[in-house]
Amino acid sequence: MQDAKDLKEYREHIKSALSNDFQRQALDKFAKAYPVGRANAFKGHDVKALINEVARVKDAGIARLDELYDEFKRKAEALGVKVHLAKTAHEANEIIARIAQENGVKKVLKSKSMTAEETHLNDHLEKYGLEVTETDLGEWIIQLRKEGPTHMVMPAIHLSRHQVADLFSAVTGAAQEVDIDKLVKVARRELRAKYVEADMGISGANFAVAETGSIGIITNEGNARLVTTLPRVHVALVGLEKLTTTLDDALKIIRVLPKNATGQNITSYVTWITGANECATCPDQKKVMHVVFLDNGRSSMAKHESYKEVLRCVRCGACANVCPVYRLVGGHEYGDVYIGAIGLILTYFFHSKEKAKALVQNCVNCQACKEICASGIDLPRIIKEVYNDILNEEGHPAESKVLGLVLKNRALFHGLLRTAKLAQKPLKAEQGYLRHLPLIFSKEHNFRALPAIADKPFRDRWNEIKHRVSPANPRYKVALFSGCVQDFVYPEQLEAVVDILEGKGVQLDFPMAQTCCGLPVRMMGEFNAAKDVAELNVNAFDQSKYDYVLTLCASCGGYLKEMYPRVLTEGGKIPVKAQQFADKVISLSEFMAKVLKLDPAEYQGQGKVTFHSPCHLARGMNVKEEPHEAIRASGHEFVPMEEEHVCCGFGGTYSMKFPQVSKELLDKKIANIEATGAEVIVTECPGCTMQIRGGLHNKGSKVQVMHTSELLAKARKKK
Ligand code: SF4
Ligand code: SF4
Repeated sequence: MQDAKDLKEYREHIKSALSNDFQRQALDKFAKAYPVGRANAFKGHDVKALINEVARVKDAGIARLDELYDEFKRKAEALGVKVHLAKTAHEANEIIARIAQENGVKKVLKSKSMTAEETHLNDHLEKYGLEVTETDLGEWIIQLRKEGPTHMVMPAIHLSRHQVADLFSAVTGAAQEVDIDKLVKVARRELRAKYVEADMGISGANFAVAETGSIGIITNEGNARLVTTLPRVHVALVGLEKLTTTLDDALKIIRVLPKNATGQNITSYVTWITGANECATCPDQKKVMHVVFLDNGRSSMAKHESYKEVLRCVRCGACANVCPVYRLVGGHEYGDVYIGAIGLILTYFFHSKEKAKALVQNCVNCQACKEICASGIDLPRIIKEVYNDILNEEGHPAESKVLGLVLKNRALFHGLLRTAKLAQKPLKAEQGYLRHLPLIFSKEHNFRALPAIADKPFRDRWNEIKHRVSPANPRYKVALFSGCVQDFVYPEQLEAVVDILEGKGVQLDFPMAQTCCGLPVRMMGEFNAAKDVAELNVNAFDQSKYDYVLTLCASCGGYLKEMYPRVLTEGGKIPVKAQQFADKVISLSEFMAKVLKLDPAEYQGQGKVTFHSPCHLARGMNVKEEPHEAIRASGHEFVPMEEEHVCCGFGGTYSMKFPQVSKELLDKKIANIEATGAEVIVTECPGCTMQIRGGLHNKGSKVQVMHTSELLAKARKKK
């Protein structure tokens, strides 16, 4: 559970989490095993189509929550179930406490329910003198430790078997062996006795089916079956968004949920309860059964154009499984009750703005969660929108406001970069790095060397080189979008593209009015400034003149392609010009592989080369194989790298806000690079270049970092 007061304190929590070696090893192991299990489970399926289908049925339900609730209530009450609707978490807890009192309940058993975690139900019932016992093994362990879950599906993943053995020894008063099978038997023995004594069972539900008034629960341990059948009273606490129109819709979700959660085709138990069950010891031979639906802000979210998507979540936990930041810091620092990308968001809606404010800043925007989400939620976008909303409520910090003002004024921005170039002279060291960092940066930022601003930006070199890419009858007319880092820091990456396009019938243009893509200010929650900057760029390019807008920066490319239409949307409508611009954006390797077609006969490269896949190239622009093709075509031996698609930790302003996390991600990346034995690591983003090259330089490594453009230019046979 997150209790840091502010960003400063949260950073301290992060530091301490990073020193938890066992947790890091456990999460690392799981993060590596998970994609393999998931891929096997989805083998032979069209995963995208299945996920789209989940999104479709969830959206259909979200649009009719009120009607579905009424229908469910009607159907379930006709079968002897009492249905309630709680507006708040407190109201839900009170309803359940009252049911317990009315039925003379003393002992309560619970099966795993994130909704009950959300309302802090156990604490509430204990205040009424009730004894509450969790029956899911992981939940029981964390209940005994008096802490919250660190994963939505595996709540005790952060604990070692030694810790569990110590805990069980203390609970049972007898020394327990450090043996997982034996520890499971201890839990089973202890919990069996509780099942016999319990008066009330509380469950959650994965589905509430309106057409039948049924609830559906999927589990692996079978405890939910015992909780919902043995005690004489059963209460299901269910988030309103679990309502589905039909049983068929629920089955569509089941086709994805276990596969996405744990790589299982289906969970061990799928339980459907329709109406109150028979009960020999109950007065009228029927169990007392209640379903309590929890609103807690869900109805308002369902009406919000952007946030309604959040209600699609089926709690598979995959957005934590693939999150590189979660993998380092664990669930107690990556959510409040709900964990992972969805946890950052739900903390704002279900718990507090104060808790969410620091959390939502701890997202490196790598897009891994979006790609894996069982219901296709655009989590990174929503995380930024929540941050922007918080800033709108509380006021924007001066530094992000200033950056917004600067980026909106291209002449001022570029003027400042030219001034910085002069000011950096005393700090400049050899090989284009800064000797030591300005005082505003602390020691924590010294994990990588930072590059100096180039002597001459690309825009000042363009007039001298443009004749080389100005054929009389071009096959393709292409505009180059540079982004500010390549223009002012790595102009050689752009010059290399002139080398590789020369003589290929491509007319290349560089519209001078272009500026920074605006991603840094959007990351900082300055949405208005981001919109103004996007407008500047769209207006700088006369779309009708070009077949493609070519970018060598993956961060810019992903943002221009995917976000510009949304950022520039006015009154619910995407301006035609913005959509056309976005549609023409293409990455270098895709342009080379798919449009020009790579010809190995043109290249004579040698040696081993590996590739780091920038997050926004692989996931933002969906370009995954083309860079490998480019490396192979260049004559080099392509050596695949472990976790090629995992973020290097740059994330623009993220690496300045959370340098400790950024450093850890970079260290892993460097270890993976070195393990390949390659002499060159190629990437396709100036941000990744800056991070990886700076890290390798600090470690004294001989491995060279090159952009795809530089590799191809160097390997191209000279005419
Ligand atoms: S975008 Fe990346 S860092 Fe951010 S929450 Fe998603 S997976 Fe984690
Ligand atoms: S947001 Fe998506 S990936 Fe995360 S738990 Fe929900 S459904 Fe699963």
